[in-house]
Amino acid sequence: MTATPTIRHALRASRSALAHVSDTPGLDAEVLLGHVTGRDAVALLRDDGMRLSAAQAEQYDELVRRRAAGVPVAHLVGEREFWSLRLRVSAHTLIPRPDTEILVEHALAALPRDRALRILDLGTGSGNIAVAIARSRPACQVTAVDVDRDALSIAADNVRRIGVTNVECIESHWYAALGSRVFDMIVSNPPYIAEGDIHLSTGDVAHEPRRALVAGVDGLDEIRCIVAGATRHLGTGGHVMIEHGANQGQAVRELMAAAGFGGTQTIRDLGGRERVTAARR
Ligand code: GLN
Repeated sequence: MTATPTIRHALRASRSALAHVSDTPGLDAEVLLGHVTGRDAVALLRDDGMRLSAAQAEQYDELVRRRAAGVPVAHLVGEREFWSLRLRVSAHTLIPRPDTEILVEHALAALPRDRALRILDLGTGSGNIAVAIARSRPACQVTAVDVDRDALSIAADNVRRIGVTNVECIESHWYAALGSRVFDMIVSNPPYIAEGDIHLSTGDVAHEPRRALVAGVDGLDEIRCIVAGATRHLGTGGHVMIEHGANQGQAVRELMAAAGFGGTQTIRDLGGRERVTAARR
């Protein structure tokens, strides 16, 4: 029987095994080995001379093998951190991205702490945006909708796990199940990639649900629906904030202005690209 590797050895070996598939092979290896051993990055470093048990070594090899085949880390460990919250994700949901934290940050800046405002999150997926806002604004009521029942059950699970009591999850194609309800803020990270875009077949995106990503030939089909519906579901003075592709800022500002919203403003992401456009009714 050969000895199992030490933590240091296992990390080093998989870092090179993952270099072809990931921009962050070292981080991926740490997250996967952390998952297997129940240690965070600090503990992995501290205990790096320790040998894995045979069962841990086997489980880790299997995870690295699947990661090397392109499966996203978030799917392998079943969770992803967003807004410092550990959220469950599955193949039915988009994997929450740091870019979307910009939307949360901007939404919170427009939500005074003490006011009981009504917020609608369209296409909630894992519930990341809804839960992050609800947690930071306990006086507000957040309505999270998604058309996909499997995604919605992940969102509901995240609401329970994080322990927020001010989020309701509703199965709905955009506003369809909401009747004439009116909100003070509408937020969304909708599908905004154009059909046939080459990004759809690369990296994590290739493993994420098409329906959460693709929106017609110009990627704007769903944003058009959201903006059109916002004219009926947003109260006077209410905010609409939508995440979009880096080259869609102008189109989204024009859509919002054409729908009669004022004060359109686009916020850039960490890489300096136009990412979120907001306006007021
Ligand atoms: N709200 C989720 C997110 O931002 C899901 C978005 C989507 O499925 N398009 O990750």
